[in-house]
Amino acid sequence: MKQANPISKAEGELIFPTRPFKGYGGVILPHLKGTENCESQMLPTPKKVVISMQQHVGAPCNPTVKAGDKVFVGQPIGEPASYVSAPIHSSVSGTVKAITEILLTSGQRAKAVEIETDGEQTLWSGIKPPRVNNMEQLCEAVKASGLVGLGGAGFPAHVKLNIPKDKKVDTLVINGAECEPYLTADYREMVEHPEDVLEGIYLLKALLKVERVIIGVESNKPKAIKILSDMAYNEERDPYNHVRVLPLKAQYPQGAEKTLVHACTGRRIGKGKLPADVGCIVMNITSVAFIHRYITTGIPLVSKRLTVDGSAVTEPKNVIAPIGTPISDIIRFCGGYKAEPRKLLMGGPMMGITMYDEDTPILKQNNGIIVFAAESVDESPATECIRCGRCVAACPMHLQPLTIENKVVKRDVEGLERFSVMSCMECGCCAFVCPAKRKLVQYMRMGKTILRKAGEKK
Ligand code: SF4
Ligand code: SF4
Repeated sequence: MKQANPISKAEGELIFPTRPFKGYGGVILPHLKGTENCESQMLPTPKKVVISMQQHVGAPCNPTVKAGDKVFVGQPIGEPASYVSAPIHSSVSGTVKAITEILLTSGQRAKAVEIETDGEQTLWSGIKPPRVNNMEQLCEAVKASGLVGLGGAGFPAHVKLNIPKDKKVDTLVINGAECEPYLTADYREMVEHPEDVLEGIYLLKALLKVERVIIGVESNKPKAIKILSDMAYNEERDPYNHVRVLPLKAQYPQGAEKTLVHACTGRRIGKGKLPADVGCIVMNITSVAFIHRYITTGIPLVSKRLTVDGSAVTEPKNVIAPIGTPISDIIRFCGGYKAEPRKLLMGGPMMGITMYDEDTPILKQNNGIIVFAAESVDESPATECIRCGRCVAACPMHLQPLTIENKVVKRDVEGLERFSVMSCMECGCCAFVCPAKRKLVQYMRMGKTILRKAGEKK
């Protein structure tokens, strides 16, 4: 059935859809959210942290401390090298042991500050809540807080909030979808700190001057939907009912920015365009709660909630850990392994990155550590493509993964451009449905690399 346009042209008023707009592609996955009722637990302060200077999309930070320096929780230790970057703060109090180098999941190397903790977790004396009365001050504050997209993207939040003057934004979309199996970190934020979520939303709504806020939450989270709906539908705080929760179909990748904006508003973001091009700004639900906490306390982004789960983990949990904590410390806190680990992922099973070193430190944008035992890992080899077209039907970006694979094999730069490999968001839907188990996401990544390198040569 045709759905109503979200904007009533006759009155020029924004309309709140009562059900999500139907999108294209995607897959229905088992939710496997076994930790949804696990209240967040604080990790005891680790003996050491290794804080990467690259924890965001954009230029890495330059360390501002040296070996032997005493540091405190929330003290800046890395300054941004460019506008698209975010400062890094110490997540612990202790002594800097070394400025070292770590290998990132992308394969690049980055500088990192290694700190031996003193167990005191003393706050830095320079911490004070910022004054925020307008968008300019908000962007400054968010930049100083070190906030990056906490949904996993790691895009510096102050850059996202700095909307170009020629763009008119009328809708704030809050991403509470958390569509990846296993992950429940955002869900715990919604049920443990709904007041922070709502306060963050009201602050952004007032400063952005938007009249419509849609909190998109997958329908497999009824408790979060009820809590947020009850709090948002509050006559005193929101007399015109401009903040509403929209239950979304539990279908992956519902939380992808373009998919979410379409599901919540019916607006389609074109190739190479951003949400602001269709009048929207999208913020992750944990990010808005963090903004409220930062404005009230002045404590920057120094810790992160992660879901620790998977068939190899003894006691799956939601853990709040200082940024820079080695994965091995967090696994130990969850009772270690009950079976030989075969695959360790940073993030969920669809978009998570496979890790090979348990001493890798966690980053701001990490939201899960999932470890599988051998029996849960399908390592059967890929077979020939049978041209069934399932990958095309599953792709939410309307791409043709099988054709793109072919262009990658031929190193056909023009073909890769024509078939829009750069639009791929690496969601993994195509590989998930492929009966031949083709490594389609790897081909998409290779295709992007080929295009980038071809662009550099021009
Ligand atoms: S889903 Fe797999 S087998 Fe089917 S067309 Fe796509 S690549 Fe080929
Ligand atoms: S990984 Fe890329 S090509 Fe595959 S379904 Fe997702 S967007 Fe489409």
